Amino acid sequence: MSSLIDRWSQAGMNNYGAPQAALVRGEGAVLTDENGKQYVDFLGGIAVNALGHAHPAVVEAVTQQVQQLGHISNFYVAEPTVALAELLLALAGRSGRVLFTNSGAEANEAAFKLSRLTGRTHVVATKGAFHGRTMGALALTGQPAKADPFRPLPGDVSHVDFGDLAALDAAVTDGTAMVIIEPIQGESGVVVPPPGYLAGAREICDKTGALLVLDEVQTGIGRTGHWFHHQSEGVEPDIITLAKGLGGGLPLGACVAFGRAADLFTPGSHGTTFGGNPISCAAGLAVIRTIAGEGLLDHVKRVGEQLRRGLEGHPAVNHVRGAGLLLGIVLNEPIAAKLAADLKEAGFLVNAPAPDVIRLAPPLIISVEQADALIAALDGLR
Ligand code: PMP
Repeated sequence: MSSLIDRWSQAGMNNYGAPQAALVRGEGAVLTDENGKQYVDFLGGIAVNALGHAHPAVVEAVTQQVQQLGHISNFYVAEPTVALAELLLALAGRSGRVLFTNSGAEANEAAFKLSRLTGRTHVVATKGAFHGRTMGALALTGQPAKADPFRPLPGDVSHVDFGDLAALDAAVTDGTAMVIIEPIQGESGVVVPPPGYLAGAREICDKTGALLVLDEVQTGIGRTGHWFHHQSEGVEPDIITLAKGLGGGLPLGACVAFGRAADLFTPGSHGTTFGGNPISCAAGLAVIRTIAGEGLLDHVKRVGEQLRRGLEGHPAVNHVRGAGLLLGIVLNEPIAAKLAADLKEAGFLVNAPAPDVIRLAPPLIISVEQADALIAALDGLR
């Protein structure tokens, strides 16, 4: 029988290229492929598996919910959906409203549409940003290689250099509906803006009445050692978008709006069949309660520091950037793809979002020992 990879190469569309592995099992931060080879997962499905694979709290919550009540439609509501919305607002520490989606792209689409209800149409986004692959989210995405084949894209979107407040100030006008920013750009290589960037963006938006939207799809839900990364900078956005880690492996996203942004959608404005389904929301509740109950935010900060210190000693490493467990290992040479392949051979899954950057976004439960093992493996590749 041909391997899963061969079969998928025939039956699956070719948009992702050849799969790098066919996986049959995951437990905690350890994945097993179809040949029985094991890997420590330092990508967490690119930040998707906040608690790792098959976490008992998620397994129990989903099993219980699927047995009790599945999804009907958005004309009804169930307890996990309400409880998760309330919990997200409580974690943000502000009053607002939540719209659930199935993905990060959809959460950004919702923010994009919502911003139109301010009566304005212009949007400012940043170069290098990734906001998703649906047409609206792609229009926000600042990566020409991904966007150009699909032009014309919807909307009136200007892209400015990430981290440059003067450029942002020059681009935002009284006709700007929203400014959308990733607090740390994940897909383009864990790029961190200068200190004060988000606060400066807040001031520019206040001056003109534009909504400040922070795409926390990659940085949110504990990834950087805070519930939401913007909290580490004391900035209050009008909207945050979430996905990835929120569902603990199930499809779940959210567009969380505060203040005046919270009341812009009215009945009939927007919707999606599976957004906020009780099964995904039960998983989301289990994720957040487990992060809180097990003190994982502190764990993220500690293991993140350990990785940073350990990796910065390596001769191939120029420096390590990022926050918590969203780290970019910046190399002295453009050998990231080769190093990622060598690490995979050695039993560690990482990826190379740029020729000279290796990204780490492991499950938040990654252990001190597993972090040490990665550092040792990289040492072995000197
Ligand atoms: N925003 C950011 C910051 C992301 O990293 C991603 C996914 N890599 C998305 C949006 C899109 O999320 P999804 O793939 O769930 O549509």
